Amino acid sequence: MTESVRAMTESLLDREARLEQANALLEQTVDDRTRQLSAANAELARLASQDALTGLANRRAFEQRAADEEARARRTGRGIGLLMLDVDLFKSVNDRFGHSVGDRVLQEISRLLEASIRETDLAARLGGEEFAVLLPELAGPAEAALVAEKIRLAVQGHGFAEAGHVTLSIGVAWADGHATPVVVALQRADEALYAAKRRGRNCCVSADDSLAG
Ligand code: GH3
Ligand code: MG
Ligand code: MG
Repeated sequence: MTESVRAMTESLLDREARLEQANALLEQTVDDRTRQLSAANAELARLASQDALTGLANRRAFEQRAADEEARARRTGRGIGLLMLDVDLFKSVNDRFGHSVGDRVLQEISRLLEASIRETDLAARLGGEEFAVLLPELAGPAEAALVAEKIRLAVQGHGFAEAGHVTLSIGVAWADGHATPVVVALQRADEALYAAKRRGRNCCVSADDSLAG
């Protein structure tokens, strides 16, 4: 092999090695970018379904999950407990201690809600000082009323760091996926919640009893 042919061969091999290196680098960069993009997408999905103040599910996520659970209830014949919750006299918490303290009360209530329910249940902040809880896989309406009472007692017994004592009123309803769809049960839970306010607040009222007062 002449000197010039050897030099040309070495140069070609060298160029091939550099091309392979560049290719590997490019593949690595594409992998990294793909991972970053899917992490960003997951973060966007989380932000779209989470309430910014409390970290609970937002109304949109609650409605989505309720629809999924309703489809399941229709298949399995097992109903869903629904609670609507509203902080009692919350305006006066803001008036006495300020809006930031009010915000932190909402955050503390959210932690109490999460601690009072199972992982398969869902607590959401619907807006303002109104929350909802979805309870799939319960035996029946009486069990939903027990969970509501457990939540009410947890909040009543809690010493809020900056606001002392705060209470909740809770409306309870049951959706069976057939005769009572979730959307109707939510309306009933809301009516029961307002019956709880009329009865003097800091109490739970079940939809069946709410017509009485
Ligand atoms: P009730 O027992 O009848 O529910 O009385 P209430 O004072 O809780 O009811 P009302 O609807 O009159 O007041 C709700 C208050 O909640 C008024 C509003 O300023 C306050 N609020 C709503 N959203 C927020 C929030 O994100 N942060 C704070 N700090 N306050 C909020
Ligand atoms: Mg309200
Ligand atoms: Mg209120």
